[in-house]
Amino acid sequence: MTTKPALLVTMAGWDETPWAESFAELLPDHRIVTTQDKIDPAQVHYAATWKHAPGSLKAYPNLKVIFSLGAGVDHVFLDKDLPPVPVVRVVDNDLTTRMSEWVVLHVLMHHRQQRMYDWQQHERLWDEDRFQPAARDIRVGVMGLGVLGEDAAKKLKVIGYDVAGWSRTRKHLDGIQSFAGNEEFDAFLARTDILVALMPLTPETKGILNRDLFTKLSHDGYFGAPILLNAGRGGLQNEADIVACLDDATLLAVTLDVFETEPLPQDSPLWHHARVTITPHNAAISDPEAVATYIANQIEAFEDGEPLQNVVDPKRQY
Ligand code: NDP
Repeated sequence: MTTKPALLVTMAGWDETPWAESFAELLPDHRIVTTQDKIDPAQVHYAATWKHAPGSLKAYPNLKVIFSLGAGVDHVFLDKDLPPVPVVRVVDNDLTTRMSEWVVLHVLMHHRQQRMYDWQQHERLWDEDRFQPAARDIRVGVMGLGVLGEDAAKKLKVIGYDVAGWSRTRKHLDGIQSFAGNEEFDAFLARTDILVALMPLTPETKGILNRDLFTKLSHDGYFGAPILLNAGRGGLQNEADIVACLDDATLLAVTLDVFETEPLPQDSPLWHHARVTITPHNAAISDPEAVATYIANQIEAFEDGEPLQNVVDPKRQY
């Protein structure tokens, strides 16, 4: 039997085979196995996971690193029996750029009232009098000013929006006001007409997008009520509150890419709500080739004695 160190590909909901094939090409000096393969557990040094079965990774006594196959790691920390090894997440320029495309698209769509023009077109209605405020008069608040939030905020700034961000720690970005920590959260919300949530799902952020937060958003902007975009995680949002707040005008409109339950259940009232735009959790899909290359490069560098990149803090869980 070979003694090559093994990388275990373990995922739920995705097909493991194409990932294993990519890794096999990239890491010829390693054995690549899936959960279907028989292997001596001591041989597994690395795990590449998307929603692995909780408790399953503790079977590998020589596991050195857990690689999340996505930017988010909430799926990893669902496992309460996680071996005490570093957890590395994906940071990839392609993914970051795709997310910013989604954010810019949906901020512009709401700002320029495109859904209304779609309706006018459908009705063969020529009404050019609808007022269009300038981007500089729209206050966009990016909640979570990390890798994705920073890139999106900078691109929104280029278009001319009045952009601010909120994060745990203070940021210093040209022309973008930084609000930090719980003490500055309400001030951030009060100046926000369009809220873009790009937060990780952690014990601290679970359910944060709720009525209490929506009430604190600006209600004196051009549209009279705030707009919400969420592409972080569905667990951040309370969907019953979103529907109720749309119905009583606490919120004007929402675009959601992520949901409490995915796929979004057929009987969800979000599907047919006139002021809800839905995308199916594909705001920024991981490109398997890019992600596999990123992980393979990290394994090779790690074995050369270099430090791992983008290691998650297990206490903060992001
Ligand atoms: P980062 O870890 O780089 O950024 C997270 C940001 O959230 C940081 O600015 C962090 O603050 C802030 N934050 C976290 N917890 C708190 C808190 N309790 N209070 C205040 N600020 C907080 O993550 P990314 O930008 O790379 O990704 C964000 C999320 O996007 C992922 O976790 C994932 O869930 C989601 N995602 C969604 C995709 C999709 O297709 N819909 C695709 C990829 C990712 P600080 O900087 O101070 O640490």
